[in-house]
Amino acid sequence: MKPQAPNLSIPASPSGLELNWKTSVLCSQGIIEAYTSYLPVTSRTPIVTLSEGNTPLIPMPHLSSLIGRGVKVMIKYDGLNPTGSFKDRGMTMAISKAKEEGASAVICASTGNTSAAAAAYATRAGIKAFVIIPQSKVALGKLAQALLYGGEVIGIDGNFDQALTIVRELGERYPITVVNSVNPYRLEGQKTAAFEIVDLMGDAPDYLFIPVGNGGNISAYWMGFCEYHQEGRCKRLPKMMGFQAAGSAPLVVGKPVLDPETLATAIRIGNPANWEKATAVKDASGGEFNAVTDQEILAAYRILANKEGIFCEPASAASVAGLLKYSDKVANEATVVCVLTGNGLKDPDSAIAFSANEFKKGIAPSLDAVAHVMGF
Ligand SMILES: *Cc1c(COP(=O)(O)O)cnc(C)c1O
Repeated sequence: MKPQAPNLSIPASPSGLELNWKTSVLCSQGIIEAYTSYLPVTSRTPIVTLSEGNTPLIPMPHLSSLIGRGVKVMIKYDGLNPTGSFKDRGMTMAISKAKEEGASAVICASTGNTSAAAAAYATRAGIKAFVIIPQSKVALGKLAQALLYGGEVIGIDGNFDQALTIVRELGERYPITVVNSVNPYRLEGQKTAAFEIVDLMGDAPDYLFIPVGNGGNISAYWMGFCEYHQEGRCKRLPKMMGFQAAGSAPLVVGKPVLDPETLATAIRIGNPANWEKATAVKDASGGEFNAVTDQEILAAYRILANKEGIFCEPASAASVAGLLKYSDKVANEATVVCVLTGNGLKDPDSAIAFSANEFKKGIAPSLDAVAHVMGF
C-alpha cells in the first residue's frame, strides 16, 4: 500500500485585504497593484498575486547583427514570471475576479502553461483548480508544476481543442469558472506586458513578433498598446506579427486544422478560441500571420540559447524564428520586440533532444581522461 502523504495544506487567506502585514513590509508588486487604474478591479477585489509581471526587456545583439540594417531586436522575456510563462499575468486577474465572485472552483483546458498558472493561483486563493490536458503532449515541467501546485490534473486521450470544447460545456453546466483566454479577465491582465514595454522604451516598438496559439496574447498586447496610445503614453502602435507552427497554422491557412501537429506543444492548437479578435488585431495594426516550420523554430531556439544566453521553450522561439524568416518585412532602423512566452526549463526533453551540443559522457574518472576530452 502506498503511504499517505500528510495533509499539509495551509488554509488560504480568504481575502487579500486581510494580509495587513503587507502594508508594513515592502514587497514586489504584481501587475494588479502596478496597473490598478487600467484594470477592472475595485477596492473589494481580493488581489491574488505571486508578484508576476515586471519581466525584463533584453537587447539581442547577435540577432540584431544577423538582421543588420540598423534593426534593434529586443526580447520581452515573459518566461521569467512566477510559474514560468505569461499566463501568470492573466491568471492573477482571472483568479482574483473568480475569488471576488465567490467561486469555489476553476477549470481550464491547457497545453500545459495555463494549467500550471491556474493551479498555482487557485492554490493561493484557496480555490480548487481542475485542469484538462492532452495527456501525451504536455511538456514535463508543466505537468510537474500542475501536480505539485495541487491542481486536479485530468489527462484526455485527445488534443487541446477537444479539451477546450469539454471545458466550455462543463463551465455552462456546472458551477465552475472557466479560466481559459475566453475569460475576458485573462486578456485584461495580459495587456500589462505591453504597458511594461512602453514604460521602459518610452514608446511602442515598430514591430511586435509573437507566437500565436489561441490568439489571446496577441489580442491582449494590442489592447495594452491601444490603451496607452489613447492616453498619449506612446506615439506609435506596433505592427503585430503573429507566428504559428506550420503543422498547426489555422490562422495562416484560413481554416481550422483538425489534426494540429508541432513539437511546439504550447501552440499546438487547431481552432483558436480568439480567432476573430486576433484577426482584427492583425488587420488593424497592419501586421501579418505567418507560419514557421518546426525546423525553423528549433534553429531559433538554439540561437537564442547558444548565442544570446536565453533559454525559452520551443513555442516561444516561434517569434524569433518568424523574425529570422521574415526579416525582409522589417524596415531599416526599426525597433523589434520578440515576445518569449515561456521558460525553457518547462520542456527539458526538447532541450536535450535538440541541443546542438554533445553530452560527452562515459569518461573515466581520472584527470588525464577529463583533460584529454577537454582538448589538452
Ligand atoms: C499559451 C502560450 C502561447 C500561445 O498564446 P495564445 O494566447 O494562446 O495565442 C504561446 N507560447 C506559450 C509558451 C504559451 O504558454
